[in-house]
Amino acid sequence: MKKWYAVIGDPIEQSMSPNMHDAWFRENGIDATYIPVHVKAEQLGDAVASLKRLGCSGWNVTVPHKSAIIPFLDEVDEEAKRMDAVNTVKVLDDGTLFGTNTDGRGFVRSLLEIGADPNEVNELLIIGAGGAAAGITFALESAGFGKISITNRTIEKARQMSDAFPEGSALSLGDAQKAIDKFDLIVQTTSIGMNFAQSGIPLDPSGIADNAIVADIIYNPLETEFLRLARIAGGKTMNGVGMFVHQGALAFELWTGIYPDTKKMVHTITTELGGK
Ligand code: NAP
Repeated sequence: MKKWYAVIGDPIEQSMSPNMHDAWFRENGIDATYIPVHVKAEQLGDAVASLKRLGCSGWNVTVPHKSAIIPFLDEVDEEAKRMDAVNTVKVLDDGTLFGTNTDGRGFVRSLLEIGADPNEVNELLIIGAGGAAAGITFALESAGFGKISITNRTIEKARQMSDAFPEGSALSLGDAQKAIDKFDLIVQTTSIGMNFAQSGIPLDPSGIADNAIVADIIYNPLETEFLRLARIAGGKTMNGVGMFVHQGALAFELWTGIYPDTKKMVHTITTELGGK
């Protein structure tokens, strides 16, 4: 029987996941499809029960349900527990709902793909302390990337996050700005730069160190103002397309056992978003 998968969120119309997963199903000769499902916060419990009852084999979870879904699942792995966020659910053969989070690992895979070497990153700065930042920071730590500093508009959240890392520290945005030239890797995870309402930059990257790697996990636009300034300052820059594709590929692998072609997908999505 044809299998089906989904992504749940609110809003959901903008999601690029259905096209991405459907393309991978086709490429790999798998008889399955993937649909977007609009789920409002108050419908989440009913939606999870319905997806299971209707035979959905697995689904992705996006804003605003990544934490709220946890009580509705039967099993959640350590990584997702530490992050207090699930982005992928698999329905196991016995009906168990298993939740994990592929966002952070997806980011690290995309970073390794551009040649980042954990042994060459001594000082690392995370800008932002939201859900995406938590996943990325845990995954970077697991992959052996350097000493972690976290800066955020709400410094208390940066402090809470940094407490989870033995060598972690929290910096005010002002202190991070003053020390910007000491970081080998800077990861911008706030929503600043995503659209007109959120225009601007969280920090000015003009004074970064030579050869610093600068990542912004936003992918629409392909180059935020922050990333543009970092590129002009000589940084090796990376946008969020690779993270998006790899977090999806890790979910696809969990569901099907196959790691799909990510290079081709990064190219397709970049072209769709107006890049080359
Ligand atoms: P979130 O949990 O809501 O966190 C938002 C973060 O942005 C917080 O640190 C927040 O600071 C900061 N922020 C928001 N507006 C700000 C402003 N005007 N000035 C300063 N700081 C501001 O969101 P999230 O889930 O982590 O997602 C963050 C971004 O990552 C979004 O743009 C999302 O699209 C992107 N993302 C990309 C991928 C991918 O696959 N490439 C995956 C996940 C997320 P406060 O704590 O002070 O509020």
